[in-house]
Amino acid sequence: MSVRRKTPNRLVLHRKCGTCGKMIVTTADTPWVRQVERDGKKQATTYFCCSQCFAASYKHIGWYDGKAEERRREREAKRDTREKSRRYYAAHAEELREKARRYRKEHPGVAAADSAYQRRKRKLLREEAELSA
Ligand SMILES: [Zn+2]
Repeated sequence: MSVRRKTPNRLVLHRKCGTCGKMIVTTADTPWVRQVERDGKKQATTYFCCSQCFAASYKHIGWYDGKAEERRREREAKRDTREKSRRYYAAHAEELREKARRYRKEHPGVAAADSAYQRRKRKLLREEAELSA
């Protein structure tokens, strides 16, 4: 004879919130759930405690570790454009020099005034930096 146990919330599970790490009670109809890339899995079902944590989950990868900003900075640094620029200038050097020459010819005095202005600006900025340092 089998005895039916009284387990009204059979499918209630305690899970960790993917953003704040709080332990939360989840059921089959918990709305804040999303497939997230974490722990080496492409799509791991991850639950969130509230709409704010759910929304924040789009701003970090996997479990929240507070390093999203750090990762972003690292990514930006990796995307170094200096090498790309150097190659561009090497390939188009003659073209660019020709363009500058044409500009100086078409606008006499303007280029000289521009460089004088830039020189003065750099000098002022340098002096300001020395004063604040
Ligand atoms: Zn949370």
